[in-house]
Amino acid sequence: MTAIDLYARAKDGFDERVAHAAAQLQSAATEHVGAIVQATSLGAEDMVVTDLIARHQLPIDVATLDTGALHLQTLALIPAIEQRYGLAIERFLPVAQNVIQFVRSHGDSAMYRSLALRKACCAVRKVEPLQRLLAGRTAWVTGLRREQSDGRAIVPFSETAADGRIKLNPLADWSWADVWHYIQIHAVPYNALHDEFYPSIGCAPCTRAIAVGEPFRAGRWWWESDGAKECGLHVKPHSDAESGMASAPAHTGAADVKVAQAPGRTQTDTQEGVAA
Ligand code: SF4
Repeated sequence: MTAIDLYARAKDGFDERVAHAAAQLQSAATEHVGAIVQATSLGAEDMVVTDLIARHQLPIDVATLDTGALHLQTLALIPAIEQRYGLAIERFLPVAQNVIQFVRSHGDSAMYRSLALRKACCAVRKVEPLQRLLAGRTAWVTGLRREQSDGRAIVPFSETAADGRIKLNPLADWSWADVWHYIQIHAVPYNALHDEFYPSIGCAPCTRAIAVGEPFRAGRWWWESDGAKECGLHVKPHSDAESGMASAPAHTGAADVKVAQAPGRTQTDTQEGVAA
C-alpha cells in the first residue's frame, strides 16, 4: 500500500485551497521579482509547492539544503524533479571544514547525546547553509502546514521576519489528505520513504518511520522530549514551540562548535529555516 493509497482524500474546499496557494505564489512572484526562492525539504508538501510553481510557470527559484546526511531516497528526488519540471535545483551544502571540525570534536553520533549537540549539528548542516540560500532574497516559500504539529498550529500564510524578509506558507491550511490528493491527481514525484511510513523526512540519522497512531513528527528526533521536533530553523513569530525543548546537560561541548560563514555571505536569518 502506498502513501497515496493511505492518505489521499478529496476533501471539501480542496479546489479553493489549491487556488489560494497558487494565487499567493503568483502574487509573491510578481512582488519579489528575481528575489524569491522555495526552500524545499523535498518532503511531500514541498513537492506540491514545486509542482505549483512549475505548473504556473512562476519565476520562483527552487533550492534545497543538502546536509550531507540525507537518505539516498531523498537525494534521488533532485534529478527526478529537474527532469520532470525542467528546472535546476540549487543545492546548498554545509561548509566542509565546519562538518569536519564538528565530527572530529564530537563524533558521528553527537546528536543523540544532548539537545545542544543536536542543535549544533543542525547549525552546521542546516542553519548556516540556509543563510546562504536566503542571501539576496526578499521572500521565501516553505511547505509548513498547521496540521503538522502543535508548534505549527498557527502558521500564517505569510509572516515577516525582523529584517523584513517575507516567509510564505501557501499550504498552511492544507490537510495531509489534501497534500496526497494533489500528488495523486497531478502525478507529482515524491520521496519513496513516504511509502514506508515516514511522513516527515529529514536527515537519515534523525528520522525514523512512525507507528500507527503516532504524531506526524514523532519520527523526527524521537529520542527528545515532545515539543523538540524542530531544527532550530523555524524559530518563528507565530509560535514558541522551541521553548518546550528538553534542557541540555550542563556540559555538552557544543559551545566549542564554531560555524564559519562561506565567503561573501551575510550573517542574517539565524532564526529562520527550511521546512524540515
Ligand atoms: S537533523 Fe540530525 S543529522 Fe541533520 S543537521 Fe540536524 S542533528 Fe545533524
